[in-house]
Amino acid sequence: MATRLISVAQARELVLDAIRPLAHEQVQLCAALGRVLASDVHAAADVPPFPCSAMDGYAIVAGDAGRRLAIVAESRAGAPAERELGDGEAIRISTGAAVPTGATAVIPQENVELWDSSIETAAAVAPGQNVRGAGEDMRAQTTVLRAGTRLGAVELGAAVAAGVGAVSAARMPRVAVLCTGDELRAPGATLGPGEIHNSNAPMLTGLAAGAGAATGEAQRLPDDPAATQAGIGAALESSDVVIISGGVSVGPHDHVKPALAALGVGEVFWSVALQPGKPTWFGTRGDDRLVFGLPGNPVSTVVTFSLFVAPALAALQGLRPARALEAEAALGVEVRRDPRREQAIRVRLKRGGTTPVATPNGAQGSHILTSLLGADALAMIPPGEGTLAAGTTVALEPLAR
Ligand code: AMP
Ligand code: MG
Repeated sequence: MATRLISVAQARELVLDAIRPLAHEQVQLCAALGRVLASDVHAAADVPPFPCSAMDGYAIVAGDAGRRLAIVAESRAGAPAERELGDGEAIRISTGAAVPTGATAVIPQENVELWDSSIETAAAVAPGQNVRGAGEDMRAQTTVLRAGTRLGAVELGAAVAAGVGAVSAARMPRVAVLCTGDELRAPGATLGPGEIHNSNAPMLTGLAAGAGAATGEAQRLPDDPAATQAGIGAALESSDVVIISGGVSVGPHDHVKPALAALGVGEVFWSVALQPGKPTWFGTRGDDRLVFGLPGNPVSTVVTFSLFVAPALAALQGLRPARALEAEAALGVEVRRDPRREQAIRVRLKRGGTTPVATPNGAQGSHILTSLLGADALAMIPPGEGTLAAGTTVALEPLAR
């Protein structure tokens, strides 16, 4: 029976339609790297919290060169001066230390002549010079980070500066990775006849972790109906998303689809008009279990993860769509179209002009894992007859990594 292929866009829409965003939880800042904010972060107070010095020098009243001022105290970072600044006085100050009451500027130490317990100003200083005002970075109560932001290192720093100790974030999606295939062997294992190394295992767990998921080690499943069903059944008990590689085609040793049917996972689609990645399966159980059956060829696995699984994991966490650096590119070479399937070509991007130029990253077979090394994106070639000429503008899709 010929299967009607759905487009990449339709398939992705079906995936996103099935998403129920995960519940929110409080997460301590020290454990929040990679988490997606469920609510805005506001500054609890002004940052910096107090007027402070931008230089090592002396807190003084702004004015001309040639003034002799008595050094009466010191303000260090974390240890403000214990007295105010009076007439004819200077308070020694370090970078980041609080500017004492009464001072209106800081004169850098290079601009003074130092005597035993006094200075002479060797340059004029204007009011406010070398003083960082309170709230110059963040004003109290203003929004610093928006809900839907993934917390990277810089965002964590900003949240800490804003006075926050814990954030509300979406629960991490629990992802189980199952690799089917009698031929698969562990990393570094000596291969027997017909065997290959299980390269999809670290790729899929790594890609899922990179997309914010909590994953354990990938499980290998033999090409056996009972073991396939038992393995998927166990994964469904403990995961929000089950990613299965291989075994989803229609060969005599492909047991994934019958196992999923027996486990009550309903098919949403199977087979996408995509090259590589046609035999992609997606289904759900209840409203809280998602299952992806990805084709076993390593490139197909990564391409279909990028196009379907990564957006699903993002939507589960409430991630706002990333600001794409480049959404389009001009083809650097002529590309033959596929009459029926949209092609996802691994490309390198050369930036320079207004539109980046996309050049295929080596041979494009679905088994050529090395075409992923150093690739910047997927260039999407719409189905059709003939070729697309060099220079044609095509859409780019992010390559998960
Ligand atoms: P399948 O989808 O099971 O028919 O597998 C398609 C191709 O991908 C076969 O050549 C498999 O040997 C290969 N393959 C399947 N799973 C993996 C894996 N985990 N790592 C590397 N190659 C795989
Ligand atoms: Mg197989």
